[in-house]
Amino acid sequence: MRDAIYNLGLSRLKELVSFMLLQNCHALHERTMREIMVCVKQSYDVDSLKVDRSSGLISTLGSPKKMNDFDRNALEEGIRIREKAGGKVIAVSVGPESVKEVLKEALAIGADTALYVSGGVPADIDSRGVAHILSKVYSLLADVDLVIMGEGSVDHYSSQVGPRVAESLGLPALTYARSVEVSDTKVTAERDMEGGLYVTECPLPAVVTVVQEINQPRLPTLRSILGASKKEIRQLSLSELGIESANVNPLVTTEEIHSPKNERKKLVLDGSKPEEASSRLVSELKKEGVL
Ligand SMILES: Cc1cc2nc3c(=O)[nH]c(=O)nc-3n(C[C@H](O)[C@H](O)[C@H](O)COP(=O)(O)OP(=O)(O)OC[C@H]3O[C@@H](n4cnc5c(N)ncnc54)[C@H](O)[C@@H]3O)c2cc1C
Repeated sequence: MRDAIYNLGLSRLKELVSFMLLQNCHALHERTMREIMVCVKQSYDVDSLKVDRSSGLISTLGSPKKMNDFDRNALEEGIRIREKAGGKVIAVSVGPESVKEVLKEALAIGADTALYVSGGVPADIDSRGVAHILSKVYSLLADVDLVIMGEGSVDHYSSQVGPRVAESLGLPALTYARSVEVSDTKVTAERDMEGGLYVTECPLPAVVTVVQEINQPRLPTLRSILGASKKEIRQLSLSELGIESANVNPLVTTEEIHSPKNERKKLVLDGSKPEEASSRLVSELKKEGVL
């Protein structure tokens, strides 16, 4: 060993020592993540919802479902954090058996494993119930350092699930994040508040909800789609999580979903006398406060 050190020469030795010190510092300051739980909701494709013209009611019957748009950003952020800090990305969904489809997509995009809670979940579960289930999943996984979710869902958009999960687990929550940085034992997020950006940080483990501007989600490749079929999708029922139905039966019920009333004035101006028509138009616009 002594000969080897002599042979290295002083300058090479200095290089080696500084490299070892750097590695040590790196190990101290770059946290190795354990698990990153990304919550993925299967929501309605809101662009294809149908509105009954006479009643104004929105029908979800027959509407296709897809991965909630904000959750694509949550997943992308989870994958980017894993690429920098290590760990495993676990995609989690709650809902009917069909949520498996969005989890297959999440695996193809880059999640390592997936888990869904299905058996016994009420069809009209509310945000409180979903948050209760996700909290139980967090506790079951036991090694989660970071929970990432979308800022809201494109269909029901209550934006309650993230803060509720944090509250029930006693974890800090950073909502509406447009950038996330994980280092050492904390997470730093820039929060997008209208009229200002807040730079906030909190210790890990934590819950973070993200806005769409945070990143550009990657698309799955043919290879990753094929590879996804080998990844694990675990299914759990409420009873396996030790959840009683009283904790997930909805307290909030959605009675009806209407499209906003958009009543038109149906004002028709006679254009045969352009001068009269234009002055009438100006006076009508003034009446409406447009001019
Ligand atoms: C008539 C009716 C039908 C419904 N059908 C369904 C259905 O088919 N599927 C369904 O999931 N819910 C369904 N729900 C439940 C409803 O959408 C819930 O309130 C819900 O899942 C929570 O969504 P949110 O809009 O409150 O979430 P938000 O708080 O707005 O969402 C924030 C984030 O929480 C996470 N999240 C939310 N919900 C889930 C979830 N289910 N799984 C994993 N992560 C989640 C996502 O990361 C999301 O970006 C239905 C409710 C009603 C009234």
